[in-house]
Amino acid sequence: MNCIKCGVNVPENQVFCDACLADMENYPVKPDITVTLPQRKEAPVSKKKSRRQRNIPPEEQLRRVKTKLRLAHLTLAVVFICFLLVAAMLLQYLQS
Ligand SMILES: [Zn+2]
Repeated sequence: MNCIKCGVNVPENQVFCDACLADMENYPVKPDITVTLPQRKEAPVSKKKSRRQRNIPPEEQLRRVKTKLRLAHLTLAVVFICFLLVAAMLLQYLQS
C-alpha cells in the first residue's frame, strides 16, 4: 500500500504516510467541509497477494509440509498416549 499523497510505502489500511499526516495537521479542515478520498483500485492488490502466495519456493513448501507432518505425528502420539492411559485405567477398574 502506498500513501495516496506522496506515494511512500505505508502499512496496510493506512491511506497517508506519517509524514503527510503530520503535514496535514498544519492545515486543519473545517468541520463543515466534505473531504472525498480518491478511489483506490482493490482488484490488483488482491491479485498480487494471491500471486505472491502461489510463488512460494519449493524448499519453503517442503518445509511447511514437514512442519504440518510433524504436528500431525505429535497429535497422533498424544492421542495414542491418552488412549493407552484410558485403557490402563479401565483395566484397573475392571480388575478391582
Ligand atoms: Zn505521504
